[in-house]
Amino acid sequence: MGSEMLEHSSRSAASRDRRLDIDHKAEVIRICDLSKTYKMGDIEVHALRGINVTIQRSEFIAVTGASGSGKSTFMNILGCLDRPTSGSYFLEVQDVSALSSDEWAHIRNRKIGFVFQGFNLLHRTSAVENVELPMMYNGFQSKERRQRALEVLKLVGLEDRSHHLPNQLSGGQQQRVAIARSLVNRPSLILADEPTGNLDTKTSVEIMELFQNLNEKEGITIVLVTHEPDIAQYAKRQIVFRDGLIISDTRKDLASTK
Ligand code: ADP
Ligand code: MG
Repeated sequence: MGSEMLEHSSRSAASRDRRLDIDHKAEVIRICDLSKTYKMGDIEVHALRGINVTIQRSEFIAVTGASGSGKSTFMNILGCLDRPTSGSYFLEVQDVSALSSDEWAHIRNRKIGFVFQGFNLLHRTSAVENVELPMMYNGFQSKERRQRALEVLKLVGLEDRSHHLPNQLSGGQQQRVAIARSLVNRPSLILADEPTGNLDTKTSVEIMELFQNLNEKEGITIVLVTHEPDIAQYAKRQIVFRDGLIISDTRKDLASTK
């Protein structure tokens, strides 16, 4: 009888916890009144001028806007690469502005996957070794690292290229390796700044289809910067910057996409 009660109460506690868990995890990013001012001698550049945005788990967001509108500044702050001048930034309900540089490095490694325009792969290092790199500090055995790296290479369709060097791969394949590397530590979100900027149109479409697939099938949260409207179309939500402000934030009508 006693054990039955215990079981009952622990079961309801578990379901309560799970509910809390989901509520917490639903919000990946909350940014309030965020500003960034660069000082260059006597001149101040107001790169971000008080922006507010909340990003939920499994969103796919395209950030667009003219050159100089603040997109990269925004991404650098999201990625814990740069600190805001004022305002707050919560990543998974944690106030990141209060953290030390070491804690930031830890967050960048565990919670955020980065994809860059120029791929940023190590040249003398095979695809699978490039993908393993972010796992070096996680205490995994080399066998586990290899297994996980091959798993994500398969996810991006490159299982048969794992031992190629970057210069033995096409631009699109190199970007797939970079995407695999960004996924390997199971981050909370992927940040991609102009990921198709160095690719031709056909390859850009393939890479965007891959992002779309990862978002829809794996539920991965993606924030992607692009200046091309065709590329932004792949996202479910579009945020437009102008002169350091968000001037529009729209969700695609889901009924019209499928
Ligand atoms: P975008 O990515 O939309 O092209 P950025 O965020 O790179 O825009 O830049 C926003 C503004 O901030 C621009 O006016 C740019 O010149 C300025 N800026 C960006 N980075 C720096 C920096 N490190 N020092 C000074 N000004 C900067
Ligand atoms: Mg930029």
